[in-house]
Amino acid sequence: MTTVAELNSGHMPQWCPGCGDFGILIALKGALAKLNISPEETVVVSGVGCGSKIPHFIKTCGFEGLHGRSLPPATGIHLANNKLTVVAIGGDGDGCGIGLGHFMHTMRRNLDFTYIIQDNEIYGLTVGQASATTKKGVITKSTPHGTPEDPINPPLMALSAGATFVARGFAGDIPHLTDLIAQAISHRGIAFIDCFQPCVTWRKDLPYDLYQKKCYKLEKEGHDTSNWDAAVARARETERWPIGVFYKIDKPIYTDQIPFIKDTPIAKQDISNVNIDKFVEEFL
Ligand code: SF4
Repeated sequence: MTTVAELNSGHMPQWCPGCGDFGILIALKGALAKLNISPEETVVVSGVGCGSKIPHFIKTCGFEGLHGRSLPPATGIHLANNKLTVVAIGGDGDGCGIGLGHFMHTMRRNLDFTYIIQDNEIYGLTVGQASATTKKGVITKSTPHGTPEDPINPPLMALSAGATFVARGFAGDIPHLTDLIAQAISHRGIAFIDCFQPCVTWRKDLPYDLYQKKCYKLEKEGHDTSNWDAAVARARETERWPIGVFYKIDKPIYTDQIPFIKDTPIAKQDISNVNIDKFVEEFL
């Protein structure tokens, strides 16, 4: 039985008091405990940013990669052992800025793992520059006259790339987010969650109570999660901000289509009869 207490790493997060990353960390631990997933069989993979410190604060296997590069190692870990539970996580700068190419290709491949973007619409760690999800006109340190660009819409990007599970959560609603992450981990295929994560230091114009006022739950409005057009329409809403599952379908996953890893992960295969000398020679 996996408990939340068991998932505490013993390292205290050094996020600003009130940062939305606290809620995401609690929800992630809660989801793993709810699903009774063994910490030893779980890998949390991140990039660089405030929220990307998360592998330090959760007692699972973990990997903190380069900026924008949570998804390549997550893909490699999943392909090496597709029996593991892999959760990739990183900020909006990480996933929608420098890592956008990885984001799109990971969505279209339907790999069987979860990707969470901690979306606070700012580069927090580097002290407050506009990111790819910062809304047009917002004044930040790097945009003193207001952001001149239209933002990227992460759920819309995931839907257009072919993701089979697309959702949005809010770090200020931990029970709802815990359930969403549990659904994402349980989904067979790529599961993407865009998570609203208030940055209380650099986005004081986006406080918790504004999210609370604007957010509504898709499941309370009879949204059909199998309807891609309806999901796109919800993802494009700007006046109200939908949270919950936008889209969810079953589709063959990547590894089902690769015969030599379909049943037995690479990490579990018997390689005692393989002569690796000729491969090693190539690099000498
Ligand atoms: Fe959180 Fe923003 Fe502080 Fe970073 S700068 S820890 S994102 S509140």
